[in-house]
Amino acid sequence: MRAAVSIAVTLLAGAALWTLAEYLLHRFAMHALNGRGIMSREHLEHHVGSGWSFSNTTLLSWAGVIVVAALLWAPLGWLLLGLPGLALGLGWCVGYAGYEHQHAVAHLRGPRGRYSTWLRRHHFHHHFGHPRANHGVTTSLWDHVFGTYERPERVRVPRRLAQPWMLDGSGELRPGLDADYVLVGSADPASRAAQLDRARAFASIAPED
Ligand SMILES: [Zn+2]
Ligand SMILES: [Zn+2]
Repeated sequence: MRAAVSIAVTLLAGAALWTLAEYLLHRFAMHALNGRGIMSREHLEHHVGSGWSFSNTTLLSWAGVIVVAALLWAPLGWLLLGLPGLALGLGWCVGYAGYEHQHAVAHLRGPRGRYSTWLRRHHFHHHFGHPRANHGVTTSLWDHVFGTYERPERVRVPRRLAQPWMLDGSGELRPGLDADYVLVGSADPASRAAQLDRARAFASIAPED
């Protein structure tokens, strides 16, 4: 029993350790490098894109989870520390996978509870125009620790970059989102038409809840 508890605690510690990596990688390897290197380039493209692309970021990131899990942390942990090391490495990978999932669904669908509402506000403030703040995605812990936490009154979303789940069929903010978001700027007619197409396609596949 004690062994099971200590393995569970070590798994959690590995996941907690991941959140520090999430913060440091996002702040330094993605933003501070200003587009130098594939990770930073992919990420800056993510910031100026108007949706979530499964062709690049997602596949690359999930490939990263598998490679890191299979080749690096878990076996390394096992070699260095035995079972606790394996648990630490696996916990780290679970944290990484959790982050990938939360980040993807934040872009792909609207909030469904308090945590997902909070996560979207926190991330989209960073995503839209505040790249020096809110580097944590799944938690704001390290933003508080390193002084990069910001909590806006409302997140200002450039109209042409709004995520499809934010818009109704006429291209305006969906009801219920105006406490957290405000659309700013104008969209040129071509990009507005494309944005409306995306919003309508999204509305036709997204379950109402
Ligand atoms: Zn970013
Ligand atoms: Zn994002």
